[in-house]
Amino acid sequence: MRAFASPAIGDGSIAHSTGTYLRPLNWEFQRVSDESGARRQKILLGVSVVLLIAAGVLAWARLGGASIYNIAAERAFICVETDKVFEYTIKEGDKSPYPSPHTGRNTGYPADTCYWTKDASGRWDRKEKPTFVLVKKTVDPKTDEKTYCPDCGRLVVRHNPPPTDDQIAKANAGAGY
Ligand SMILES: [Zn+2]
Repeated sequence: MRAFASPAIGDGSIAHSTGTYLRPLNWEFQRVSDESGARRQKILLGVSVVLLIAAGVLAWARLGGASIYNIAAERAFICVETDKVFEYTIKEGDKSPYPSPHTGRNTGYPADTCYWTKDASGRWDRKEKPTFVLVKKTVDPKTDEKTYCPDCGRLVVRHNPPPTDDQIAKANAGAGY
């Protein structure tokens, strides 16, 4: 009867056990595995919730949250009424201005880009992610009003080219453009 008093798995007692002993042992094992299954489901549920939140944050960021600068230049639009940048893909039959999510009306225009930046010591450089700028001529083709970058103050034209190394060197030498 000693084996029954301390039924450690692997001590050989199971092989010699009676059916009445084995049944509760099996039941116990089943219960434990059910519990760990429930725990696993809880963990998986937790992971899913975390992933869902992460996806939500990413979607928010893409729709004009913190990282509007990640919008590809060809899909960057600016709402003329709110000055907000948004992402839009032009569809067939679309005409300018385009639908802005910030007004719910067609107040969006294709953005131009400025890749100029100044470092802390005042030297010009080229940045990787552009500042999106709404050029006045894009909104009103007849205007002669110039548009300046709100970030660095340089002139921005339609289809504004990124600065060349030569232009940056000249700007740093004090020759302006
Ligand atoms: Zn700029």
